[in-house]
Amino acid sequence: MQAQIINGLEIRKAILEEIKAETAEYKTKTGKVPGLVTILVGENPASVSYVTLKVKTALEMGFNEVQVNLPESCTEQELLDTVEKYNRDDSIHGILVQLPLPKHIDENKVIYAIDPDKDVDGFHPVNIGRLLLGGKHTKYPPCTPAGIVEMLSRAGVGTEGKEVVIVGRSNLVGKPLANMLCAKGKNANATVTICHTGTKDLASHCKRADILVAAAGCPGLIKPEWVKPGACVIDVGVNRVGEKISEKTGKKVAILKGDTDFDALLDIAGYITPVPGGVGPMTIAMLMKNTLNAFKYTMEK
Ligand code: NAD
Repeated sequence: MQAQIINGLEIRKAILEEIKAETAEYKTKTGKVPGLVTILVGENPASVSYVTLKVKTALEMGFNEVQVNLPESCTEQELLDTVEKYNRDDSIHGILVQLPLPKHIDENKVIYAIDPDKDVDGFHPVNIGRLLLGGKHTKYPPCTPAGIVEMLSRAGVGTEGKEVVIVGRSNLVGKPLANMLCAKGKNANATVTICHTGTKDLASHCKRADILVAAAGCPGLIKPEWVKPGACVIDVGVNRVGEKISEKTGKKVAILKGDTDFDALLDIAGYITPVPGGVGPMTIAMLMKNTLNAFKYTMEK
């Protein structure tokens, strides 16, 4: 039987519709809406396109969206002052500083300067600590792993008691995802193994996974014969393997490939996510969800 494809674009659409409806409801009841500030330093094309999409989506949600563009030459102190300004602004519930920052600015210093209660990216050590404690302590799970958990849940892939193998131990994906999936509770309670560049015999770990998450950033790393028949394969990898001319726009676009071989896995896996169109679209939906939650926390105070 062919694997069920988990469509990130469709799941994102459903989540965004829910967020939009809840925001409208809050606006009617209280006259208030979530506020998100997106801070962009410089003009790195990838960062500009990510921020543009975040701004557009936040506006579609009905959020109060403030966009701050600082020049590449801005000093670390100017950026820290900007962050502090929005830490103090009660109409702003979420602060997003687009990474990476120019080399002369210490990224950690900037992340640490964000009020943890407004850190909707979930990168501040306080939020990482909250995630580790789990349950009601968790406030803002980082968006990519949160998107994966949401995808599994909405696709009906149970995690309870499952063997989950995650290939990749980054602070952005592998480590937080492992914590979320081994926590006690709903959409969790799995037995989790994290594999990385120091892992001996990666194949043997992958072969016993009920849920295999590939987040290494190596095109085609996971061989089809390493996947257990019927397993759920979540491919987080986004690897640029070349360029092509887009049929839609006639412009050059990157050819993207995941860490797995999607076509070969269609006849092996039970569930699979495509690249692009799988995990990628979920990240922005979870950013919007974290921002709505940040707003809800202040309303409940
Ligand atoms: P990273 O480079 O920080 O971490 C990669 C991890 O994979 C490391 O822990 C490393 O030990 C492990 N790894 C690398 N090669 C390996 C190998 N041959 N065998 C075993 N382990 C290996 O990367 P990251 O930020 O976690 O991102 C991983 C991938 O996911 C990248 O392709 C990235 O573009 C993609 N990504 C996608 C999204 C999204 O779709 N929204 C978000 C974040 C990252």
